[in-house]
Amino acid sequence: MVKNPFILFKMAVLKQLTSKEAIALENKYGAHNYHPLPVVLSRGEGVYLWDAEGKRYYDFLSAYSAVNQGHCHPKIIDAMTAQAKTLTLTSRAFYNDVLGKYEKYATTLFGFDKLLPMNTGAEAVETALKIARKWAYEVKGIKENEAEILVCENNFHGRTTTIISFSNDPVARENFGPYTKGFIKIEYDNLIALENALKNNANIAAFLVEPIQGEAGVYVPNDTYLIAAKALCETYNVLFIADEVQTGIARTGRLLATCGNCSCENKNCSGTPDVKADILILGKALSGGAYPVSAVLANDAIMNVIKPGNHGSTFGGNPVAAAVAMAALDVIQDENLAENAYVLGVLFRDELNKYIAKSNIVKLVRGKGLLNAIVINDANDSDTAWNICLALRDNGLLAKPTHGNIIRFAPPLVMTKSQLLDCVSIITKTLKQFEH
Ligand SMILES: *Cc1c(COP(=O)(O)O)cnc(C)c1O
Repeated sequence: MVKNPFILFKMAVLKQLTSKEAIALENKYGAHNYHPLPVVLSRGEGVYLWDAEGKRYYDFLSAYSAVNQGHCHPKIIDAMTAQAKTLTLTSRAFYNDVLGKYEKYATTLFGFDKLLPMNTGAEAVETALKIARKWAYEVKGIKENEAEILVCENNFHGRTTTIISFSNDPVARENFGPYTKGFIKIEYDNLIALENALKNNANIAAFLVEPIQGEAGVYVPNDTYLIAAKALCETYNVLFIADEVQTGIARTGRLLATCGNCSCENKNCSGTPDVKADILILGKALSGGAYPVSAVLANDAIMNVIKPGNHGSTFGGNPVAAAVAMAALDVIQDENLAENAYVLGVLFRDELNKYIAKSNIVKLVRGKGLLNAIVINDANDSDTAWNICLALRDNGLLAKPTHGNIIRFAPPLVMTKSQLLDCVSIITKTLKQFEH
C-alpha cells in the first residue's frame, strides 16, 4: 500500500483524466493567461482531434496555423523521433551536423542568403528588430539610439515586453510598462500614412508588417498594398520586414504571402502582384506544430551585421528543430499544400457566401487560402461569437473567436474537398441556430 501522498498523486496523474478533471487541474494549478474553449484534447491525426472522452472534432484553428501539415504528420514525427534518439541539443557553442543542411534547404526554398534560427515567433520578431536596428546604425548611418521602426495599428507580433510596447491591444499592454521606445504606429493598409511617416523622418530603419493581420481578425489588405509599401521602403532605404509567422508556409494559398522569387512551384502564384521582404520572419508551421521552430531570413548585406556574441539562443538551431523543419517543409511541397489551400479557400468562401446572402447573423467572410474569418452581426462586446464556437464544438468542429465578434477558420491544409464540404455543412447548420 503506497502511503506517500506525492507518489499517490503521480499515480493519479498517469491515469487518463476525464475532461472535467483536466480542466479543474489547469484552473487550479496553471496561471490563468488564457481563456480556453471548454474542450480537452487528447489525440490528433490529420484534420481531426479527439477529446478525452473519445469524441472527434474537425480542427478549424490548427493551433493558430502551426499545424498546417495536419496533426502528428508521420513524416514529421518520424524525422523528430529519429533525430531525438540520435542527438537533441549541443548548443551553438559547437557545430551540429543537421543545422547547416536545414539552413541551406530553407534559404534555397525561400530565396535568401542566410537564416538565423530561433524557437518561437516572438523571439524571431525580436531578432528581426535587433537586426534592423543594427543595420540602421552600421549600414544606413542613422545616429546611435535614434532608429525608429514603423509598425501597424492592430498588429500582433507576440508577447515580449518590446513587442507589446508597440501593440495597441489594451489587454496585452496594461500594467506591463515602462514600454520600449523607438516604434511608430501607422494605419494598416494605408499607403499615404506609410509615405507620410517615411518622408518626414530620416531615422526610420524598418517597416514591420503582417501580410494579412491574423489575430486582429484576418484583415486582408488591398491587392496592391504590400507591393507598393515595399516600393516605398526601397525609395527611402528602409527595410521591409514581413512577419509571416501566421501567413507563411502555405496557409494563404502560396508558400509565403510575400513569395518574391522563392522557388515553390504553386501555379496559383503566377499573375499575383508580388513582393519579397528584406527580412522574413517564420514560425508556427515551420515545424508543422511538432516542435517550437522559428527563423529569420535575410540576404548577406543585412544579416552580416550580426557577429558572434551579438545574439543567440540555447535551443535555437538545435538538431531536432532542424530535422523537424526540413520534414515539415518537405510535406508542404510533396503534398502540394499551398495549392490545396488556394483551391479549398476559394470553395470555402464561395460556399459561405451563399449562406451569408440570406443570413442575419453573419455579415461577411474574408480571407485568403485557408486563413479566413467570419464577422458576426452583433455588438463587438457581445458573446455571440463565443456562443457560436461552443455550438460548433457540440457539432464537432473547433474554432475560437478572435478580437471582437470575429471567428477565425483555419483548418489544417491537408484537408480534402469532401471534408471541407462536410465542415461547411457543420458551420452553416450551427449558424442557423443563431439566426433571428
Ligand atoms: C503567433 C504569432 C507570433 C508569435 O509567435 P509565438 O510563437 O506565439 O511567439 C508573431 N507574429 C504573428 C503574426 C503571429 O501570428
